[in-house]
Amino acid sequence: MQFIVGLIIIALLMYLLNAIWPLFLVLFIVFAVWKAYEFFYYKSSKFLSIKQRIDTYINDCNDLNRHIEDLKDTSLLADRTDYGDASYRDSRKWNYQRKHIKDQKYAPNVYNCSRTVCDNARKKPFEYVCKYLGIKATEENLSAFENILNNFEAAEEGKKNLQAEKEKILNSIQTDVPVLIRKFSKKKLEQKLGFEQIDMSTAYFPKYVFQYTSSGGNASTHCDIVMDIDNLNRFVLFLSEKIKFKKSVAGQRALMTSKLRQQIKERDGYACKQCGASVHQEPNLLLEIDHIIPVSKGGLTTEDNLQTLCWRCNRKKGAKIQ
Ligand SMILES: [Zn+2]
Repeated sequence: MQFIVGLIIIALLMYLLNAIWPLFLVLFIVFAVWKAYEFFYYKSSKFLSIKQRIDTYINDCNDLNRHIEDLKDTSLLADRTDYGDASYRDSRKWNYQRKHIKDQKYAPNVYNCSRTVCDNARKKPFEYVCKYLGIKATEENLSAFENILNNFEAAEEGKKNLQAEKEKILNSIQTDVPVLIRKFSKKKLEQKLGFEQIDMSTAYFPKYVFQYTSSGGNASTHCDIVMDIDNLNRFVLFLSEKIKFKKSVAGQRALMTSKLRQQIKERDGYACKQCGASVHQEPNLLLEIDHIIPVSKGGLTTEDNLQTLCWRCNRKKGAKIQ
């Protein structure tokens, strides 16, 4: 019986294959013709002239893209208790990943601990990050985290601006590019025009992990603390509260938070204090907050030591200081 059913199935498959192979052939031919068309289009003088025409804008985009990668690469800590190599992993190597990675992956700092510590870390995350990962409530650390916040927020804004600018450039050449290419070859078009890939993931945010695994390995608990923009804002406030409690000078200066960044931009009329470029002329311009006298040279986070700079001027200034 089984044998007969098997035979029938095989016969049916043969019949089907026989009936649809011309379809495969047609599909294959269509595919080959399309690939050839694509190949010759990107070699055509028409395409090359479009590419040349928008070359400066694309270079500007790519510069901004590299600038964002640099911002994301801000190093984490200056002042940290050394507990040995068990608990700390530098987030830096993750930051160099240019390709798209899922948002759930973050640069981790893992701390293996008892179940109690893991449970408590969930209730008072910042408290435990400081205590077990050796982040002392010092001026240096506060500044380091303010700096990270300032740079990461600029990076997040920059990613959006960059994406919008890219869309704008692509829209501007819309009528010159054949519909088929625009519809079915979008990624390749961007690549052939010279756009570098934008990494939109937030995987560069530092993540602190408290994890407990029982000796038998059957039970385990996790507590993940991702230092995203919101948590960084709150952590800056948390650290400053701790320092203020110790009666330090930190209480007498402003804190670099998202709110202050916004205030400074507003005060400066959303324009670069150096070159005058503003979001009124360039809607997708990335504006950053700069310490006029750098923190490394004793400059404080006070409103009169802060200014709005466009990313280009800020990048130039940063290069000069180093
Ligand atoms: Zn400028």
